[in-house]
Amino acid sequence: MFPAGARISVLTTQPLDRLLDYKAPEGGCRQGDFLEVPLGPRKILGVVWGEGGGEFDEAKLRAAYRVLDVPPMREEMQEFLIRAADYTLTSWPAMLRLAARAPGLSDPPSMKTLYVRGTEEPARMTDARARVLDALDGFGGQPVTMKELSDEAGTSSSVIKGLVDQGAVAEIEAPRDTPYPPLDPTLPGKALTDDQRAASEALAEAIRSGRYGTTMLKGVTGSGKTEVYLEAVAACLAQGRQALVLLPEIALTAEFLTRVEKRFGAKPAEWHHGVTMTERRRCWRMAATGDAQMVIGARSALFLPYRDLGLVVVDEEHDTSYKQEDGVLYNARDMAVLRASLCHAQVVLASATPSLETWVNAEQGKYRRLDLVSRFGPSVLPEMRAIDMRRESLPSNRWISPTLQRAAETRLEKGEQVLFFLNRRGYAPVTVCRACGDQIGCPHCDARLVEHRFQKRLVCHQCGLSIPMPTHCPKCDAEDRLAPVGPGVERLAEEAQALFPEAKLAVLSSDLFGTARELKQRIEEIAAGDAEIIIGTQLVSKGHNFPNLTLVGVIDADLGLRGSDLRAAERTFQQMRQVAGRAGRAEKPGLALLQSHEPEHPVIQAILSGDEESFWRAEAEARRYLSMPPFGRMAGIVLSSPDVAEVFDFGQALARAAGPLKEIGAEVYGPAPAPIARIRGRHRVRLLVKAEKTAPLQQGLRNWLSQLRPPPNLRLAVDIDPQSFF
Ligand code: ADP
Ligand code: ZN
Repeated sequence: MFPAGARISVLTTQPLDRLLDYKAPEGGCRQGDFLEVPLGPRKILGVVWGEGGGEFDEAKLRAAYRVLDVPPMREEMQEFLIRAADYTLTSWPAMLRLAARAPGLSDPPSMKTLYVRGTEEPARMTDARARVLDALDGFGGQPVTMKELSDEAGTSSSVIKGLVDQGAVAEIEAPRDTPYPPLDPTLPGKALTDDQRAASEALAEAIRSGRYGTTMLKGVTGSGKTEVYLEAVAACLAQGRQALVLLPEIALTAEFLTRVEKRFGAKPAEWHHGVTMTERRRCWRMAATGDAQMVIGARSALFLPYRDLGLVVVDEEHDTSYKQEDGVLYNARDMAVLRASLCHAQVVLASATPSLETWVNAEQGKYRRLDLVSRFGPSVLPEMRAIDMRRESLPSNRWISPTLQRAAETRLEKGEQVLFFLNRRGYAPVTVCRACGDQIGCPHCDARLVEHRFQKRLVCHQCGLSIPMPTHCPKCDAEDRLAPVGPGVERLAEEAQALFPEAKLAVLSSDLFGTARELKQRIEEIAAGDAEIIIGTQLVSKGHNFPNLTLVGVIDADLGLRGSDLRAAERTFQQMRQVAGRAGRAEKPGLALLQSHEPEHPVIQAILSGDEESFWRAEAEARRYLSMPPFGRMAGIVLSSPDVAEVFDFGQALARAAGPLKEIGAEVYGPAPAPIARIRGRHRVRLLVKAEKTAPLQQGLRNWLSQLRPPPNLRLAVDIDPQSFF
């Protein structure tokens, strides 16, 4: 306890490289308290980090304004933020911003007015009114604030007030931040199969030990991984501790919530882009008080202030969306392990196709490994075959081979669903001018513009630039000579419709939906049968069930193997197996056909043979040989600046100053232009640092980078364990 006026040290969310000293506010404060403090003319957020002791002149010390009405940050959370900052070479304030990302932290607890559907129908329906009612339906009965409702409906508050007067919308007074309804872990779960039971008992026992541990839970899609980890959640709740389930954003579906509700009698708390600000505020506070027993969320849910976290599940742990690629560069899977080790919790890494890192950790005994060997019930893994595209005769600008077409016909005749998978958004990846040969590029990036025909626009997938589809070539001005080259999902849809004129088609691509909720709703409709042919990007490979889908046609199985990415093989392997896993979930056997120009490629062969263990072993060997992660350590440094000379000069200066890296036995490569050499008008240069597994990489990097000060316009980002190399 620091009495009023005592000198305290405060971590703020401002981008400063040090803690600030203040006088404790009236009434005093404790370590970990969230505070409002003055900085210049502003009021900013901070946390009492400890006793003050800086050199700052005592006479000039200002007093903190007040302690906020939220539970103080626990010491274990302080420790987590420091360790995570150290690991990712992130500043402490940036870490605190992640941990304090709840709206309204400084609001007093009070009542608020919320809106729900009323009992009456409006006397006269207008467009705006209909939008308000639709928006309320969209929130699924969840009460929302005026702002949330008017934003979602795109109407003014007067329209909503009008509906309130007519009883079509009801106004309710609710206390802010009510606890979540209790979950009951003693409700009966499903009767488990033998290997499911063995796995869930092993996890329950680990949880009861009250110690840290990580388990890789491996099993094909449909083998019951979710059933098993829900039993682990039950064991955790029974201990009175909190459980967190991380899912890739797209897998956060109503279907999953319903499953949890069935198992525990109530819905869990949610933390992701799709939930309202009000709900986020509630989730943050209830995590801190322990009144949110279970949270399901996207990666940032890891930074919630849990009172007593006993279990973290990372579902689809191999998923690339767990790696945050801007702002603080962290991998939620690795941070989950760090956090759990600090709070004596268990981690479950669930996947049908684990990341190589996780597989190796299990192999080396750092993680426990549990396998679910078969699919639940009568369904079997789809049969997988390659279609050798060198032997298929295809007219130009056609991508569905005759063999694939025939297979699709058979399935459609039986009333089953077919999926054509192509991981490319838009209509065509390249637009070329037939007069001058120019490929239309983005003026700000080193990238081609991608035609999106539904929107009649050309779009840059790097910076988001979007221009109306031109009629004249931007270079030579020739009229009507622009032609698409290569397929995207929209173009594939055209082809499929021409081949199967009777079939009902649906295209699933992230850019075709305004909100995550619309997309999820559409996926659910399609799963329920509202399309016979699904054309989809990688969006469809994640965690959703299409019970009537029996054929997956992968249009270009070689696509992911063409890059020079270290993880290309691993990614392709995972993606093909995940996509194939969509087929044949219910009682109907599935088939996956992979169109390839090189079916003898070892990765394609490994996918087809289903001999995963030998694939992982071979991949691990290759990486060990090259001392690549996870057998060695890597960091990527990306420098970017509008000035191309400056960015190269600074890169070279860094490379010359590599002494501190040599001291830890690390090597530096580059500077070289990054694979995408320009994004949003900024030139990008990259250096790669490679070190032995045991080298103190972060220390070496800190010493190295602190020698030189980047020029004002140059941005420097450090990416520990880089996942992608763009
Ligand atoms: P995964 O997470 O491995 O993809 P799920 O846990 O989602 O697998 O299981 C696939 C389907 O099989 C789900 O609909 C699930 O409810 C069902 N299922 C799995 N195990 C059982 C069981 N022991 N009893 C009843 N249904 C089960
Ligand atoms: Zn661009």
